[in-house]
Amino acid sequence: MLVVKNITKTYGNLNVLKGIDLQIHQGEVASIVGASGAGKSTLLHIAGTLDKPDTGQVFIAGQEITNLKDTSLAKFRNEKLGFIFQFHNLLGEFTALENVCMPAYIGGKNKKIEERAEELLVLLGLKDRIHNLPSQMSGGEQQRTAVARALINSPSIIFADEPSGNLDSKNAQELHELFFNLRDQFNQTFVIVTHNEDLANMADRKLVMQDGLLLS
Ligand code: ADP
Ligand code: ADP
Repeated sequence: MLVVKNITKTYGNLNVLKGIDLQIHQGEVASIVGASGAGKSTLLHIAGTLDKPDTGQVFIAGQEITNLKDTSLAKFRNEKLGFIFQFHNLLGEFTALENVCMPAYIGGKNKKIEERAEELLVLLGLKDRIHNLPSQMSGGEQQRTAVARALINSPSIIFADEPSGNLDSKNAQELHELFFNLRDQFNQTFVIVTHNEDLANMADRKLVMQDGLLLS
């Protein structure tokens, strides 16, 4: 599903990624752990097409993305990938439903999208929050809305960067359980950078980064 081959990345004279090889299979929940500054976010951004490597290749669902032009890349990213960040990044002036629909509206607004968004919100336990603004929801609810938004285009992979970093332990645990439920129900693939030990240990695979290298 995701294949990363010998990726390197340098910022100035800082070698942030020193040759990363990685394979994630469909339906796997992979966690990436390691000290701050180890290069986890950089790897996630490159694997997720948000940033480009200096050398090396990234393949997602059989497609090499490292040589796609920016416009094709943006289309691929929107159609095939989902993202969840530490801070949900929901748009404050739009409802939960509208936020979830947003990545799908790029292909044009339609009723089908709204129906799917509603189904996802219900599936994620947000039936009573569908027409709420982010400010009218708890942190956990906001983050679950962000998960629904990540799911709207049925992505091949969801990339998450510290998804529970801003949640209390109860909400964090609920969010983690949700990831594993989505894996079980839909064979959803996740690559998750996290400092949360419970999540890292629950993952099907725990990848440890140190100084720009993957140790396992
Ligand atoms: P982690 O996610 O493991 O904390 P990062 O990938 O965020 O690590 O960062 C790895 C190193 O690269 C850090 O030293 C960070 O300061 C540096 N870095 C990350 N992004 C940039 C950037 N855009 N420009 C310069 N340095 C960067
Ligand atoms: P994380 O907490 O996930 O490790 P960071 O706080 O290190 O993330 O980085 C957040 C953003 O800032 C990233 O997009 C990264 O590329 C950028 N960044 C990190 N370090 C630097 C830096 N030294 N110079 C410029 N941009 C940076």
